[in-house]
Amino acid sequence: MNFYILTLFPDMITQALNTSIIGRAKEKGILKITAVNIRDYTKDKHQKTDDYPYGGGAGMVMQAQPIYDAYQAVRAKMKKKPRTIYLTPQGPAFTQNMAKELAGEEDLVFLCGHYEGVDERVLEEIVTDSVSIGDYVLTGGELPAMVMIDAVSRMVPGVLANEDSAAWESFEGNLLEYPQYSRPYEWNGKKVPDVLLSGDHFKIEQWRREQSILRTKQYRPDLLKKADLTIREKAVYHVYDERN
Ligand code: SAM
Repeated sequence: MNFYILTLFPDMITQALNTSIIGRAKEKGILKITAVNIRDYTKDKHQKTDDYPYGGGAGMVMQAQPIYDAYQAVRAKMKKKPRTIYLTPQGPAFTQNMAKELAGEEDLVFLCGHYEGVDERVLEEIVTDSVSIGDYVLTGGELPAMVMIDAVSRMVPGVLANEDSAAWESFEGNLLEYPQYSRPYEWNGKKVPDVLLSGDHFKIEQWRREQSILRTKQYRPDLLKKADLTIREKAVYHVYDERN
């Protein structure tokens, strides 16, 4: 899978995405991550990429021309128009389902805004999806792009060593994951729940399912209303399905 990130700060991207699981997937050739410096495409003699907003107001706006030319240079490498994501607090919130869906693409382009944002006209020309990573405003789109690339990459076959570890995680079936424990058996006076040492896989699965439901009820009651629960589970945990 190929990720192209249009940015004014390519070092932020290359440094952060070279380590751990994503770094290994790059080395194996499963992922290719290319940070494209928008400034390399400006036609301004002073290398400028931003200017004052028409109509006045605070801050600077990223200009259309360098972004459009950087995009065209990337586009020229592909057969079809790529999904092009503008990171913006104004977009719908990023979700695990979006990550799964985007992992099916061969190429993804991310446009990182900065300052007050980007000239609307270039957004109209190149952007296919606008995405926010949450209801807060950051200084730039680089961190949101990296958040998305990390979450999408984990869904690409071969990136995680054990594919199962992505299959049984939080948000599957709208439930949060159960608590996890590792050695030692006793730490700081706290013991691992006995059921996990019982060797009884049926009981362990039952316990994990119960913990998932209780946890979701406590931290994300909004999710639990949409969760895939049996009629019995709904009765036991007092869940009233929004769909009924
Ligand atoms: N003036 C813009 C507004 O009010 O919508 C905010 C601009 S913000 C300071 C600069 C850039 O950071 C944006 O163009 C966007 O690329 C990125 N950004 C900031 N917050 C974000 C968020 N929550 N999700 C995704 N991108 C974000």
